[in-house]
Amino acid sequence: MSSVRVTILMAGHCTCPEHIAIQGGRWRNIHFPAMFALIEHPRCGPMLFDTGYSERFFSETRRFPNRLYRLATPVTLEEKQTAQAQLAARGIRPSDIERVFISHFHADHIAALGDFPRARYVYLPQAFEAVRSLAGWRALARAYLPGLLPSDFTERAAPVDMAAPRPLPPDYAPFATGFDLLGDESLLAVELPGHCTGQMGLLARREDGIIFFFVADAAWLMRSIAGNRLPHALANLIFSNPRLYRLTLAKLHRFHVSRPEVAIIPSHCAETLARYTG
Ligand SMILES: [Zn+2]
Repeated sequence: MSSVRVTILMAGHCTCPEHIAIQGGRWRNIHFPAMFALIEHPRCGPMLFDTGYSERFFSETRRFPNRLYRLATPVTLEEKQTAQAQLAARGIRPSDIERVFISHFHADHIAALGDFPRARYVYLPQAFEAVRSLAGWRALARAYLPGLLPSDFTERAAPVDMAAPRPLPPDYAPFATGFDLLGDESLLAVELPGHCTGQMGLLARREDGIIFFFVADAAWLMRSIAGNRLPHALANLIFSNPRLYRLTLAKLHRFHVSRPEVAIIPSHCAETLARYTG
């Protein structure tokens, strides 16, 4: 597995009651940061895993019915927190971004896709198939805001070839197969279904040898993975498949127990993100 530079960043946050995020959680609101990661590959250049929120989230949720999305999860985003602004602070222009790996098509993961004019969009095809024909209320019910996709999305789309899975080494058990995204084993996609169809996790080895496993929304908190603790049953209303969600969470739990040195990064776990962004 070749290595990459990994920088974990956040573009805004929303709030969520802790007892919804995890069974046994407290009756108080907690921050749900919207994580994105800058991945710099020696040959393929700078790439992103998800994008977090952007200004476009606010314009897309100005009117009903989409306004309900903003009311359900109140979002805070300062201008300097957008992916574009944080990359600029690192000397990276929007047109430098070669690829954006999309974990899934929920608004808090794709809101800035349109800010990167040259990027190719990489995702598991079934994730987009599950939402591409949805509009209005039906899209909103899946936390999908079609207006967040740039108009040339399909021309720049580079869905993962599902016909070419690759066995993972035995120490990745219970995850048995992945997809080699760049052809040099530096980035391996792993399907993590349940939260939504075709959710894509990403394995990356950082230059210092630490393996990162970006698991998106397969769990909202690292505590859920460590203790195999589900969210409140109400959360099942927004999951595409609660049974698969439980199976995926149980697999992540087993993996964490056998490989505690791997940095598992749930996209919205403030504690984990503070640890790796500090
Ligand atoms: Zn999600």
